[in-house]
Amino acid sequence: MHPHLKSLIELQSVDLRLIGIRDRLSRFPKRLAEAEGRVTAARQQVAAAKEALTTGQKERKTFELDVEQWKERAKKYRNQSGEVKSNEAYKALLHEIANAEAEVAKAEDRLLDRMVSGEEYDRQVKAAEAALKEIEAAVNKERQAIQAEYNATQKELTAAEAARAAAVAAVPENLVDHYERIAKRHGGIGLAEIRGEGCGQCGVHIRPHVIQQLQRGDQEFFHCETCTRILYYADHAAQGAPASSEPAAQSAGDSPAAGERH
Ligand SMILES: [Zn+2]
Repeated sequence: MHPHLKSLIELQSVDLRLIGIRDRLSRFPKRLAEAEGRVTAARQQVAAAKEALTTGQKERKTFELDVEQWKERAKKYRNQSGEVKSNEAYKALLHEIANAEAEVAKAEDRLLDRMVSGEEYDRQVKAAEAALKEIEAAVNKERQAIQAEYNATQKELTAAEAARAAAVAAVPENLVDHYERIAKRHGGIGLAEIRGEGCGQCGVHIRPHVIQQLQRGDQEFFHCETCTRILYYADHAAQGAPASSEPAAQSAGDSPAAGERH
């Protein structure tokens, strides 16, 4: 294989690694935000439960007042019963007393209901507070794990960037530019392996004589006519065999200015 092509394949493999690393790095903010979101939601649950409890307490006071007022009224009517002169008026007063007493009973029922559900609200506040504590602890752990993973990924990035610099140094500058221009247009993938009789990236058929020349290792670059990627042929059957030292020697000879490139 053309020694520069071998170096380009090396570069491509580092670039693919970099794409993966940068992709993972870009997801960290969202992962953190999701974790924070769970804490926020739990806090809102506590706030909502507390508000329900407060509303319940206010209603309870209103219902207590209702009971008092209806009791007052019933008492007032009863006190009036000695003063009425006519049978008619007496009947009317009895009716008012019965009505007021019925209202007392209703208000007392409402108050009792409110007291029962007040206990329920109390229980809900305590449950929401306990859930919040649990979620906060879990998210704290998660945040630390995400941070550790982020640091490790940053280290991976630094290592891959160094590997890229080394890979770039092994390829003539104009060829790196050429490769990068193609890669930029095609999602970071500037090379395409021959698969069967086609381009391994876009699948288009490659003319047999091009494949033959690639297999022979001609000192010429071929591009896919459809996706324009630089084609290469990898002899997977021979990959188990020890690598020849020839390409490396040739590569070094072809790259006298390697140290100047970055
Ligand atoms: Zn193609």
